[in-house]
Amino acid sequence: DGGAQRPHVAILPTPGTGHLFPIAELAKLLVDRHGFTATIITFAESANKTQSNILASLPSAITTVVLPPVSLSDLPPDARIETRISLASARAVPSVRSVLLSLRSSTRLVAFVVDLFASPASEAALELSIPRYVFIPTNLQFLTLMLHFHSLHAATNLDFWQLPEPVRLPGFPPIPGQDILHPLQDRKNPCYKWMLEQARRYRESDGILVNSFDAIEEEAAKLLTGGDATGWPRVYPVGPLIRTRGASREEGAYCIRWLDEQPQGSVIYVSFGSAGTLSTEQLVELAMGLEASGQRFLWVLRSPSDANSAASYFTARSADDPLTYLPEGFLERTKGVGLVVASWAPQIEVLGHAATGGFLSHCGWNSTLESVVNGVPMIAWPLFAEQRMNAVMLVDGVGVALRVKGREDGVVERAEVARLVRELMEGERGKELRKRAKELEAAAAKALAEEDGSSSRALAAVAERWKKYG
Ligand code: UDP
Repeated sequence: DGGAQRPHVAILPTPGTGHLFPIAELAKLLVDRHGFTATIITFAESANKTQSNILASLPSAITTVVLPPVSLSDLPPDARIETRISLASARAVPSVRSVLLSLRSSTRLVAFVVDLFASPASEAALELSIPRYVFIPTNLQFLTLMLHFHSLHAATNLDFWQLPEPVRLPGFPPIPGQDILHPLQDRKNPCYKWMLEQARRYRESDGILVNSFDAIEEEAAKLLTGGDATGWPRVYPVGPLIRTRGASREEGAYCIRWLDEQPQGSVIYVSFGSAGTLSTEQLVELAMGLEASGQRFLWVLRSPSDANSAASYFTARSADDPLTYLPEGFLERTKGVGLVVASWAPQIEVLGHAATGGFLSHCGWNSTLESVVNGVPMIAWPLFAEQRMNAVMLVDGVGVALRVKGREDGVVERAEVARLVRELMEGERGKELRKRAKELEAAAAKALAEEDGSSSRALAAVAERWKKYG
């Protein structure tokens, strides 16, 4: 059937559903628009229901392979997540090699793509002389930091948070040291060495695809997409790659029905991603702040990070029921104005709903893109990973968000929450941010336009390059 002649790409995503979404979209585009077939290789450890749902929904031109489990039992229990993923990827080299060998004998394998922290596994492709590409599910700012990481590292003995001056990355507003990517903050942690190793793999790759688009990181896009003249591997901004539709769930339908009854643009959606949690104290401040703002809200509530602590043990609250952590009487007082849902909401549909007018977000990149493609301005409340850097860029660079300011100990007080929510939803600044969000919404649609969008052209360019390898 000629199937063996279609170019084939193998992709290895880092464990984590947030990574699989854009990878699935990328693979679908390669199949639909460029005649590829693809294999998505997954780690045994990352298997869960959401992941299997995503994988099961893929078209038949995309197959999946699960790697045999790797043991990380020699790692100390407090090893950071980036260390775990990096080591798992390094130890997966032999099994990745056999998958690639078998794909090479059955398909026209033209490239091996690793995402974010799976780059140590690209060693397998190097040994087999298969072109190595990296997919960055986050943005050009993250990539720029990683490309410059070695020289930033060599320039000082201090940790980033100790630097007296902000970090200047070409194409971006200055980033205060303490806002730099979390796993880069402690030189003595093994994870720091792994990040240097990841950065080296990026620089040595044959090309880098990024889930961003020209208009949101304009300067950097110009600087990085200049081809060989940049001195870096070729960079292809191919985003925004986001799910077009969330999974349908019961509680999801309920959120949407509630939104249907709210006035246009009146609701602020509050969510900290798939994993973000607050302390009990912070959760109470947020609740009181939302209430004091007088604005309508839809809040995805998760049990606090200290839910299993002695304190919560003695108050006999249940980590399984986040609602028990809300201040006394909160739900009654905010009835009709706010909706609190436990742990999960259909975010794509919520952000796309006409009633949603703002997003209080942890600044995860998927959430950011989902907000931007729906023209929704944000309040930036970053928690971990690269979220603080994202917040700097969204506030100082892109101009689509307000940032919360915490106390010395990091806690954001209720008055600050109320002030920012009002400002975003009703204030002058909010109007400007909304206008900017609408511009970006249009720019994102343009980037993805099949004929002449910048991201479509970037993907076509990398697809053409891959076809030549075959
Ligand atoms: N998400 C969702 N419902 C929720 C929370 C999260 O659908 O209640 C989805 C969200 O739409 C996004 C992803 O989970 O696609 C979160 O990714 P992001 O990069 O924003 O943050 P992370 O979860 O990686 O911290």
